[in-house]
Amino acid sequence: MTELAPYAATSRASRGRRIAEPAPEGRSEFQRDRDRIVHSTAFRRLEYKTQVFVNHEGDLFRTRLTHSIEVAQIARSIARNLALNEDLVESVALAHDLGHTPFGHSGQDALNECMHEHGGFEHNLQSLRVVDLLEQRYGAFDGLNLCFETREGILKHCSRTNARKLGDVGERFLLNHRPSLEAQLANFADEIAYNNHDVDDGLRSGLITLDDLSAVPVFAVHLEQVRREFPELLDRRLIHETVRRMINRFVTDLTNESRCLISDYAPTDIEAVRRAPPLISFSAEVKRLQQELQSFLRGRLYRHYRVQRMANKAKRVVRELFSAFMEETQLLPPDYRDRAKFDAPRAIADYIAGMTDRYAIKEHRRIFAIDMF
Ligand code: MG
Repeated sequence: MTELAPYAATSRASRGRRIAEPAPEGRSEFQRDRDRIVHSTAFRRLEYKTQVFVNHEGDLFRTRLTHSIEVAQIARSIARNLALNEDLVESVALAHDLGHTPFGHSGQDALNECMHEHGGFEHNLQSLRVVDLLEQRYGAFDGLNLCFETREGILKHCSRTNARKLGDVGERFLLNHRPSLEAQLANFADEIAYNNHDVDDGLRSGLITLDDLSAVPVFAVHLEQVRREFPELLDRRLIHETVRRMINRFVTDLTNESRCLISDYAPTDIEAVRRAPPLISFSAEVKRLQQELQSFLRGRLYRHYRVQRMANKAKRVVRELFSAFMEETQLLPPDYRDRAKFDAPRAIADYIAGMTDRYAIKEHRRIFAIDMF
């Protein structure tokens, strides 16, 4: 690793783990966090959780696992160029979606509605619950006992009500402080990754076409470039050449703009970063390009009737599972049934949130199909 900037997060300046542990040998604290995340059960489940396209719709669509790996790749590249801590951005990127429900945003919306009177459901907070509590692997503690900086990065948003219950990691939402630059960066890398791979997956699915996308300036400009450079290029290669140029544009712009902001503000250390305004940002022009792309995806892809049909089914699966378990907690597997004695809605939400898409569908069948036990 190149030498870190003074405002980067370091193992040495870490606010530490909830339960103190001896320093790791041969790797940094944040590398240890990453390793724990990669070995977790929740991480392996990401392979069968999707955001836009449900797993069985095709083998080549992004899953939450490949999405998280793309986020880590983008975040690490930028971190290296800004002399930030690559190990920390990687940990945050790989963990950022661990709390996602099955069926992407529709699953989360449905679970949030079900939990309306029981404290709500929020996937960011759930990711933190996974690493703080729900993973059961270590003898000495529940969860993964990650460093404060990794946990702070996982908790991207949080309501003030929830922040008050979270102690150290909730504090910044009450004080209006920022997280580390690594956490800010992982958040942008997430956006860059999904905007671009949703374009690619959207085209692959046939729900949107190159013609549709030509109305989006940032796509049109790069498509034009590729066509000029390779007039014969068709289909997948044309798309990939265009998407990779878009990613590059976003990454380069984010790096340059952030470098300027950081150098103007000149934070002396990570504590100064926390009190500073956001220092990772796109330029005004690229922010606009990115918003245009996002609103295209929202209108044309996420609200496409075929995506909506799947989302509608997904919500039904989540809602029906939730009510069946609420009505009869004896239907829950033993671990969750025991926890349901103390707080049934939360135990049920944890169980459902942990499900992969296909597990949720199977579980729904096991509970509701008369000919299946
Ligand atoms: Mg994400």
